[in-house]
Amino acid sequence: MYHITAIAAFKDNYIWCLHHQHKAVLVDPGDAEVVHAFLTAHQLEPVAILVTHHHWDHVDGIPALQQHWPELAVYISAGERDKTKHQLKNCHIVSDAMQFAMKELQLTFNVLAVPGHTLGHVAYFCQLPEQEPVLFCGDTLFSGGCGRLFEGTHQQMYQSLQKINTLPSNTQIYCTHEYTLANLQFAHEVEPDNNAIVEYRVWCEAKRAVNLPTLPSSLDKERQMNPYLRCEMPALQQRWQQQNGSDLFRFLRLWKDRY
Ligand SMILES: [Zn+2]
Repeated sequence: MYHITAIAAFKDNYIWCLHHQHKAVLVDPGDAEVVHAFLTAHQLEPVAILVTHHHWDHVDGIPALQQHWPELAVYISAGERDKTKHQLKNCHIVSDAMQFAMKELQLTFNVLAVPGHTLGHVAYFCQLPEQEPVLFCGDTLFSGGCGRLFEGTHQQMYQSLQKINTLPSNTQIYCTHEYTLANLQFAHEVEPDNNAIVEYRVWCEAKRAVNLPTLPSSLDKERQMNPYLRCEMPALQQRWQQQNGSDLFRFLRLWKDRY
């Protein structure tokens, strides 16, 4: 059995730790201290770090972790590696459609280039043996929303989300931030008649009331209520008077930016 645990960091970040027996993989460790405490408490040895993009809250913990575990490998795209101010060791450069094996955990990861939030942003897909597939998507897809465009165009982000949308519907979605409730408030404005949004919001409020993550989500769930994955729906395009999915995406993302 593989476990995926959220290590809370900063105000609303999650550093995901995928572990099996005593080996662990960390996704976007922005803070070394909370990671170190978690690994020690659970007697885990980290074997690799997966980086989705170069923003400080995703990479700032890496140097301290590599100092403690010098063998620790870092998977990152070339574009994002070039943008971080850190000197990362044991770098494995990843790119779109690449597949790599992680022997220590007997797993294979598939890389998806998902530009938009940043230009070299990648997501990592993994089919866990006899478990549901998982996607670590950084700041690209959020539950009920999507990341802001810091570097890419609306068209790029739209295509990145479309690419994620082709994955199996039971894919478990591990995003980096707890933004779900705020996203659902906006989603409700976009689609006031969508009951899936209302029901999911009740479930998320209960989780947050006891300080539990609303994540992971699933692709199936997102398809039912995430407006950015629903731009192809003619009724929604009509409602907001947009010609096609890509126009509607741009319209919604711009609206959300000043929401
Ligand atoms: Zn970011």
